[in-house]
Amino acid sequence: MKDLVIIGAGPAGMTAGIYATRAGLSALVLEHNYVSGGQIINTYEVDNYPGFPGINGFDLAQKMREHADALGVVFDTADVRRVERIDGGFRVSSDKDPIDTKTVIIASGADHSKLGIPGEDTYGGMGVSYCATCDGAFYRGKDVAVIGGGDVAVEDAIFLARACRKVYVVHRRDALRAQKSLQDKLFACDNVEIVWDSNGTAIEGKDGKVSALIVQNKFSGETKKLDVDGVFIAVGIVPNSEVFGGLIDQDDKGYILADETGATSTPGIFAAGDVRAKALRQIVTAVGDGANAVAAVERYLNEQ
Ligand SMILES: Cc1cc2nc3c(=O)[nH]c(=O)nc-3n(C[C@H](O)[C@H](O)[C@H](O)COP(=O)(O)OP(=O)(O)OC[C@H]3O[C@@H](n4cnc5c(N)ncnc54)[C@H](O)[C@@H]3O)c2cc1C
Repeated sequence: MKDLVIIGAGPAGMTAGIYATRAGLSALVLEHNYVSGGQIINTYEVDNYPGFPGINGFDLAQKMREHADALGVVFDTADVRRVERIDGGFRVSSDKDPIDTKTVIIASGADHSKLGIPGEDTYGGMGVSYCATCDGAFYRGKDVAVIGGGDVAVEDAIFLARACRKVYVVHRRDALRAQKSLQDKLFACDNVEIVWDSNGTAIEGKDGKVSALIVQNKFSGETKKLDVDGVFIAVGIVPNSEVFGGLIDQDDKGYILADETGATSTPGIFAAGDVRAKALRQIVTAVGDGANAVAAVERYLNEQ
């Protein structure tokens, strides 16, 4: 039986792996992606992680993974589908052989939310995208729309404005939620037009690809058709916590409830990073959570 299984190799999971290995625990990090790093692998620029000003997200993820590898952290590629109680701990089931462990750190992070408007699923991958840094290059010289007004939406719009002819930012309010520094960069782009107080209501296509976004002003009700080749949706995130339902308490949005140490409602299961209920979802807080959770795991194991 392992001391610890860590689910997810984003910043939180990799940090937990580093702390657990240095603490001499028999630990295993399970990640369903072939690349470690979680959400940051799709981040063009990270400018608020101390020591690495302006680093590309993929590069930061690589550095974290290299650091973990150098310390001997053990990773495996597996899609975790269930965690259940067994005598003396938990069984973690995935698409590979089940693993028995005394403790679990859930560091499965979060994923983009969907808008749920007509055309979103039909044109998924054919003009509808949730990742500007992954797909933006396909829209060089074209017109695109970004839906959202937070950090991710604004960062996406700035990134797209470098290569696209025109970028519409469709936002349901009259002010953006993004950090001021990002807003300043956005307002300095002369090929960006912000469509205020409006919702994207439908995505239309031609020959199997996106050809337009329909937007509606929420006050006047007036609709407008934006002729675009791409629609980038950045309207928030949802926690990757579904598979743990029933085992641990979650809030009404599915974020795992945990105390400051990462302890959840089930003794022996800890949560770290974006998957847990918390005020600020960032890399620094995710790595802090990962370290804290391992300290809590050590205390828990010592008490058994
Ligand atoms: C576009 C974008 C830009 C951002 N920019 C910044 C920034 O500039 N600065 C900053 O501090 N933060 C930024 N963030 C936020 C930051 O990326 C997150 O706060 C951070 O990645 C959270 O780390 P995490 O380890 O908790 O989760 P994640 O990064 O989400 O990693 C979770 C990992 O768990 C894996 N996983 C999920 N479910 C399973 C399962 N069932 N089985 C196995 N593996 C699983 C996932 O594949 C993923 O690799 C940005 C986020 C986005 C999307």
